[in-house]
Amino acid sequence: MTPASDTFLEALPKAELHVHLEGTLEPALKIILARRNGHPLQNMTEDEIRAGYSFHDLPSFLALYYEGVDLLQTEQDFYDLCYAYLKKVASQNVLYTEMFFDPQLHTRRGVAFGTVITGITRARKDAERDFGIRSQLVMCFIREMSAESAEETFTQALPYLSDIVGVGLDSDEKGNPPAKFANVFRRAREAGLHVTMHCDIDQENTHEHIRQALEDVGSERLDHGLNVLDRPELVAQARERHIPFTVCPFPNMVIRPGSNEKDIRALLDAGMTITINSDDPGYMHSVYMTEALKLARDGANLTPQEVVTISRNAFNAAWIGEAERQTYLARLDDFARKEGLLPAA
Ligand SMILES: [Zn+2]
Repeated sequence: MTPASDTFLEALPKAELHVHLEGTLEPALKIILARRNGHPLQNMTEDEIRAGYSFHDLPSFLALYYEGVDLLQTEQDFYDLCYAYLKKVASQNVLYTEMFFDPQLHTRRGVAFGTVITGITRARKDAERDFGIRSQLVMCFIREMSAESAEETFTQALPYLSDIVGVGLDSDEKGNPPAKFANVFRRAREAGLHVTMHCDIDQENTHEHIRQALEDVGSERLDHGLNVLDRPELVAQARERHIPFTVCPFPNMVIRPGSNEKDIRALLDAGMTITINSDDPGYMHSVYMTEALKLARDGANLTPQEVVTISRNAFNAAWIGEAERQTYLARLDDFARKEGLLPAA
């Protein structure tokens, strides 16, 4: 069958489930924030900033990423960051997005938890009013920091839990298994939050990390998680529990060349529930949702029907109420019907 066209991917109603707000910081906004806060980066051009963006694995990416994080100081900075991302993806027909944020990256350099989340929450409300896009927040713990630091962060979040839908785990996986954070994830679940976590590609002990995430920590999704494919018992468990995998074609292509050609099709063939996402578009050649879908399509020759299924997976996996979910699914069905992929109503 013919792969989905660019215009099809652009018009598709979408949901995003794996994007790091701090990773959406584009060079243009970096310069604005640097000027506002008197940071030396204010004298650089966008091209100069972009020229410094090269990474080949997780540690080299994180070094770059943490440098950008330092530019975020005030509530307005966090507002501008979140509003810019939501405005951008609303223009790509993203109806709903769940955004990761990493409070510890800010609190450890003296920015208050309240400053971070108040700016973000205000932007979410304004973007919904201005562009109709709905969003929720998933608070991630930094895995190379201590379990005590994660616990403290969760305590700081308690007054803001109504603005947070779930918790996640990200950053440097080496030597930092999911089990290290079992207690804080238990607290989060008891407080009614959802749980997801990163299982990055080809990490040390990756299969044990995936097993812990699924069996010991009760992760409802896996962020990346491609190494599931190496172990039939993990594939069977993920399939049985309909665990959604948030696949990110841009970083996959960089970290494991050929991944989009091989792994996306292999996940589909294995009966896994996958979604396609951007991850850190500000640092990844501005590959937002539509561009990420194009990379997935180019790699795996995704047909229009498969793309609609992937989008449906994302709405089904979203941590929202049933009424809201049905609204999105109805819009997706309308689109599929117009494209001749469903019988007329
Ligand atoms: Zn990620």
